[in-house]
Amino acid sequence: MELFTAGLISLEDARAKMLAQITPLADSEAVAITAAAGRITAEAVVSPLDVPPFANSAMDGYALRTEDFANKQPLSVAGKAFAGAPFTGEWPAGSCIRIMTGAPIPAGAAAVVMQEQTESLEDGVRILADVTAGQNIRLAGEDIRQGASVLAAGVKLGAAELPLLASLGIRQIRVLRKLRVAVFSTGDELQPVGEPLAAGQIYDTNRFAVRLMLETLGCEVIDLGIIKDQPEALRAAFLQADAQADVVISSGGVSVGEADYTKQMLEELGEIGFWKLAMKPGKPFAFGRLANSWFCGLPGNPVSAAVTFYQLVQPLLARLTGQQADALPPRMRARASGVLKKSPGRLDFQRGIFSRNADGDLQVISTGHQGSHVFSSFSQANCFIVLERERGTVQPGEWVEIEPFNALLGG
Ligand code: AMP
Ligand code: MG
Repeated sequence: MELFTAGLISLEDARAKMLAQITPLADSEAVAITAAAGRITAEAVVSPLDVPPFANSAMDGYALRTEDFANKQPLSVAGKAFAGAPFTGEWPAGSCIRIMTGAPIPAGAAAVVMQEQTESLEDGVRILADVTAGQNIRLAGEDIRQGASVLAAGVKLGAAELPLLASLGIRQIRVLRKLRVAVFSTGDELQPVGEPLAAGQIYDTNRFAVRLMLETLGCEVIDLGIIKDQPEALRAAFLQADAQADVVISSGGVSVGEADYTKQMLEELGEIGFWKLAMKPGKPFAFGRLANSWFCGLPGNPVSAAVTFYQLVQPLLARLTGQQADALPPRMRARASGVLKKSPGRLDFQRGIFSRNADGDLQVISTGHQGSHVFSSFSQANCFIVLERERGTVQPGEWVEIEPFNALLGG
């Protein structure tokens, strides 16, 4: 086995090597919470107040004093408390207060009896159930205490976090500045979408895919277009990208063909971290350092480019922005419902469709042709089937690992 995997670095080693070198960005800025979706907290957020800010009723009903708890007790109603309009009047002994959900608990009240457990009388109500102290009262600070940390640094702000900030009356928050990522495609055969194809030309898929994934991740994209397979053109692109971006991502030109100059450029203008992965698709993948930025050279084949972006660039960008969450969803076990062709030697990321079978087990089936140029496999798939490096062809019924797609791939 070693023979044909010699010189290849495993995905895990590559990822670890990459992440070990990276220190998160430090620059932050203040943004309004209405403009903060997708941004990442630069510091922990501490609550400026108690939530709820005051004790209030969890039910529509009647607020009672302790001495009036007795079952079957008839009570007169001294006044009303609404959400937004507290009871402020006199509260004579032997009476209760009509109270609505969310209304402040009147001073001296020890419990709220829900309306359904009372009987209306001509001149008041009768309590029909046993009452315990504190029932149906939401205490001040029960959800969040003033001064408590509500969000850590390195948290991406979305529908779970921003409404929480709104509930605390926080209008502005410090977030990391957006990562600037430069992207270009290399290849004399590439045409931008919208141009007619001449003989031997194909459309540039990768730049489109990478740009979209970067936008989904909240990066600021610097699109340098299509670069010819000429050392001069490539050098100029590298220099321009490095001058403008935190991360530079190219695609194509990382194999060992005669027009593959990326490695040469990286050697000349920077430092190579690693080069070839024991991974399929995605064997040629370059990682390195330029004068001011990190460089990732994706393979040219679109499936390989997307898989390596997903498995390596995504965690890199998460680390650079100090994110605590692992960018990749957890793996699960599923039963192969068909044959999965594979030869030992490289970790394989096949595209699959998983579902639950009649026994409640997860099952997975291949999307079909697994060629690294078959991009259509992604739109049918909802997961990667991750087949271990030394594994051979999988027979129906065998257990395999799957990795459900996250939002980058439409999961
Ligand atoms: P390369 O890594 O440059 O040798 O490219 C490998 C394969 O991927 C070739 O068939 C290229 O035509 C194809 N390819 C390279 N870049 C792109 C791109 N941006 N979009 C679509 N296919 C590409
Ligand atoms: Mg090429």
